[in-house]
Amino acid sequence: MRLLPRLDTFEKAVAIFRLAWLAGHGDPASIHWVLSEQDMSETRTARSRKNDIPDQQIASVRVLNCGQAEQHKEHRYGSRLPQLWWVFFGRSWVPLPLQCFLIDHRDGLVLFDTGIDPAIGSDTRYIKQAVGRFLLPRIFRFHLTDADRIDRVLTGAGVGASDIRMAVISHLHFDHVGGIAQIPQADLLVSDGEWAILSDPHPEREWILREHIETPTAKWRQIVFEPTGDPLFEGIGGIYDVAGDGSMILLPTPGHTRGSMSMLIRQHGWDPILLVGDLTYEAALLEKNIVSGTGDRDVLLASFAKVRRLQTRLPGLAVVASHDFAAEESVSRATRQSSKI
Ligand SMILES: [Zn+2]
Repeated sequence: MRLLPRLDTFEKAVAIFRLAWLAGHGDPASIHWVLSEQDMSETRTARSRKNDIPDQQIASVRVLNCGQAEQHKEHRYGSRLPQLWWVFFGRSWVPLPLQCFLIDHRDGLVLFDTGIDPAIGSDTRYIKQAVGRFLLPRIFRFHLTDADRIDRVLTGAGVGASDIRMAVISHLHFDHVGGIAQIPQADLLVSDGEWAILSDPHPEREWILREHIETPTAKWRQIVFEPTGDPLFEGIGGIYDVAGDGSMILLPTPGHTRGSMSMLIRQHGWDPILLVGDLTYEAALLEKNIVSGTGDRDVLLASFAKVRRLQTRLPGLAVVASHDFAAEESVSRATRQSSKI
């Protein structure tokens, strides 16, 4: 089944022209950045679907620091109290690092999530609904600066925002899609289940803000998880192989939101890495089966079980959560390199 729309002839012609121009004038290393999603899709079918571990498709995985915030202790570590109680009466705030991930794949640079737009802390109209504006400071305390916007974060990492070819969006919460306006050229991959939330009457009640997602420049691509005969993924609920080489595989891990997904990164010589987004706020909590204070508890636990199943099949699997202080250390250990930016 074809999952992604084909580029029309004009776009293809432009891509070929740019390739030819780069071949003549540009840095040859840049050529792979103009490959389109169609090319990647074709590559997916052209490359052999061997189950062995990919060899040297990825140069590096880096953790990007996209700002600091605080959240209630009950939010991060879970609570038996109703959510509204801790939102209004909780007095214990704990740090919440905002992070996303940069993967240097041989087909181009890929982001896993895009961070937060610091305007949320300064622009009083960032959230349209009055209820949302009222609740936000009762759920989060932001400590953001302009330097936390993804294009500036990338500049700090020595990368231009225009060089990002694709962003995989784990889920549509505002602190994961806040940078999409800075990467209009990039394909934005989202699960079809997550995208369906936008058709609900009030997605903003789940902190999914249509006005910052359905923007004119955003190149959203819904993905559908496909069945696979690979026993590694048995019981996982389908997969989506981003580059067709097994190095970046998306898996459904709902619960935090109903279409949340994770990305499995595999490369010869590295420990496998599972970027889980907000499935948990700390990998250690998932290990202890402690769910956070938001999301669907039963669905979260079912996704935890999936991750654990994967861990038994992939010894050494590093589970890396977006808001975990241990993310950088886990990625560094798994890739045997420094991942800090
Ligand atoms: Zn979230």
